[in-house]
Amino acid sequence: MIFDIPEEISYIISTLEHNGFEAWLVGGCVRDFCMGIKPKDYDICTSARPEQIAPLFDKTINTGIEHGTVTVVINSYSVEVTTFRIDSDYTDHRRPDFVIYSGSLTKDLKRRDFSINAMAYHPSRGIMDPYNGRKDIADRIIRTVGDPAERFKEDALRMLRAIRFISRFNFELEHETKNAIQLLANTIQFVSAERILSEINEILLSSNPEAFILLFELGLIPYIIKIPIPSIPDMKLFRKLDKKLSLRWAALLWKMDFAGKDIRKICRDFKMSLSLTKEIIGITDILTNPLPASDYNIRLLMSSAKQNIIRDSLSILRNYGIFPGKINEIERTIDIITKNKHCIHLSDLAVDGNDLLAFGFPPGKLIGELLEILLICVLQKPFLNHRDILLAFAESISSAFPYSPSL
Ligand code: ATP
Ligand code: MG
Repeated sequence: MIFDIPEEISYIISTLEHNGFEAWLVGGCVRDFCMGIKPKDYDICTSARPEQIAPLFDKTINTGIEHGTVTVVINSYSVEVTTFRIDSDYTDHRRPDFVIYSGSLTKDLKRRDFSINAMAYHPSRGIMDPYNGRKDIADRIIRTVGDPAERFKEDALRMLRAIRFISRFNFELEHETKNAIQLLANTIQFVSAERILSEINEILLSSNPEAFILLFELGLIPYIIKIPIPSIPDMKLFRKLDKKLSLRWAALLWKMDFAGKDIRKICRDFKMSLSLTKEIIGITDILTNPLPASDYNIRLLMSSAKQNIIRDSLSILRNYGIFPGKINEIERTIDIITKNKHCIHLSDLAVDGNDLLAFGFPPGKLIGELLEILLICVLQKPFLNHRDILLAFAESISSAFPYSPSL
């Protein structure tokens, strides 16, 4: 096992120790080292209190200070340095009521969620692994530190974290840990939508997103998606989808046979961002409607949906082997339409509102309506997109409008 610790991280540990404190690498980075994975970030725990940590370093950020965490910034590293702590009582299945400093690494490791996350490493003292995290890594098992039911009662989010680590590492749930989740599945409703969403996002983007099915198998899903779920999604082939959040969410909801307003409600309930929601709705709208069958229908679709949304939708259908020939043809047509700069949007029309006004049309509702009609014509026949043709056409049809004033 090689602990290839960046200089900046060693510097933080040795600075704390030279000032009389104990300091260890802890949590995810130790787990990753033990698995031969380069950690994406480093967490340090220490006997120093936040007010003792900050003065030792040039640049620190106090964002997590109420949890005993000071972020030390050195070069490109932002390292969370957290005082050894135990968590106080959990009264509502989420977050401890307040933080108690414990002064001991052993107690700090005991409050951590899983054996694989409850290891610490010190450059000269080596590994502390009181819950046999290394063995569970070798056996590919997710197991809570201590009694699983107790640990999930303290913090229900841990049930989803367990599934997240399973999906990331392709591990299995230890038997008792699994039973406890089944028993306590309903308590996931006490966890905020944002925290649930962030775990599910990670599961969907992991290399084993099929672990999402555990939400069904363990009975969590009805407490997470609170409207009746039409179908259990077939997660086969899901991992082959592009690793893009909106695309994977859209594929998932579509595979559960959700459509329209139910999808909007799910996005809202999860408090997804507006941009994520828009993309999911855009993609699922395409997936749940007939594919465009003519060039005109393709241009019509392009006028209402962004190209990346259309391409994401097509890539989902292609992933599942649905209408492969048709999909290739639609993509070819989109390429041709783009290359030939066909008019797709009002802004591409050879005339605009000012042209119509200058031509003599009165200001008001009529201008907008005429432009919409001209766009439909041009979407049908791109070669009509010429100023003279469109103005003449607008003039010829405007007299038929019930409220059209004479020119
Ligand atoms: P990642 O690589 O995804 O960041 P991580 O293990 O570092 O994984 P974090 O969410 O960053 O996970 O948490 C850091 C550490 O804090 C964990 O390894 C674990 O020891 C502890 N931890 C985090 N959340 C909880 C929790 N809800 N209950 C108990 N311990 C937790
Ligand atoms: Mg982490």
